Amino acid sequence: MRKKVIAANWKMNEDYPEGLALFTDVIKLIRDEVTGSQEVIVCPPFIHLHALVQLAKNHPQLSIGAQDAHQSQSGAFTGEVSAKMVRSTGAEYVILGHSERRHYFNETNELVAKKIDTALLNNLKIICCIGETKKEREAGQQFNVLERQLTEGLFHLDETQFAHLTIAYEPIWAIGTGVTATAAQAQEIHRFIRKKLSARYGDETADHTVILYGGSCNPKNAAELFSQKDIDGGLIGGASLKARDFVDIIKVCNFKGVLL
Ligand code: PEP
Repeated sequence: MRKKVIAANWKMNEDYPEGLALFTDVIKLIRDEVTGSQEVIVCPPFIHLHALVQLAKNHPQLSIGAQDAHQSQSGAFTGEVSAKMVRSTGAEYVILGHSERRHYFNETNELVAKKIDTALLNNLKIICCIGETKKEREAGQQFNVLERQLTEGLFHLDETQFAHLTIAYEPIWAIGTGVTATAAQAQEIHRFIRKKLSARYGDETADHTVILYGGSCNPKNAAELFSQKDIDGGLIGGASLKARDFVDIIKVCNFKGVLL
């Protein structure tokens, strides 16, 4: 059985005290209400990483991750943060290839591949985001786009390296829009991704890889999405900024874990 994972992407929200308050509320609600063994990964802005790692210390199901890390080990890249720096805070994860980075910062599949290599060298686990635009879906191109993102961004890794990856399918037309993929649409893509993993790495790796859904996930639509066979949890943006909503989503995911 694959583990269930819920990850929060705070994006560029929450100043320092606000971030501490939000995470403290999340911890309290998890402690009081969540039972089960799913993993919860919170990915705040860089400024919060170290403090959140400290707060998460006595909570084994909670992990902390960054939202990006540079492809170079170090150097004259003013304003950037390296994978080594992220790891030195105690954070264990990094999100790479998020569609907002691909769109606003021109990140290509090739750049995502380099960032993955550097993150792995620094012992970070990776949540790699892939997904198609509205235009690509309307043109029926979603499978081609996803296959290219997988092949060019991820499939240079060997099996041992790939074991450190989680994939997040995030249809760009569903991110921050309030429009969610239907459970059937999401399942169709997750199945497709798993088939591609199986062709590249074999059935065992494909069966063990956690594939998250992301895109306007909330406590109301999470149950149906997470009940799909190939959906192992979610990457949550907007709803992760409200402790109540985020923990309600975690509870839905936990329920699936108990049922299986
Ligand atoms: C995201 O940015 O990864 C995301 C899923 O955002 P939202 O939940 O707000 O659509």
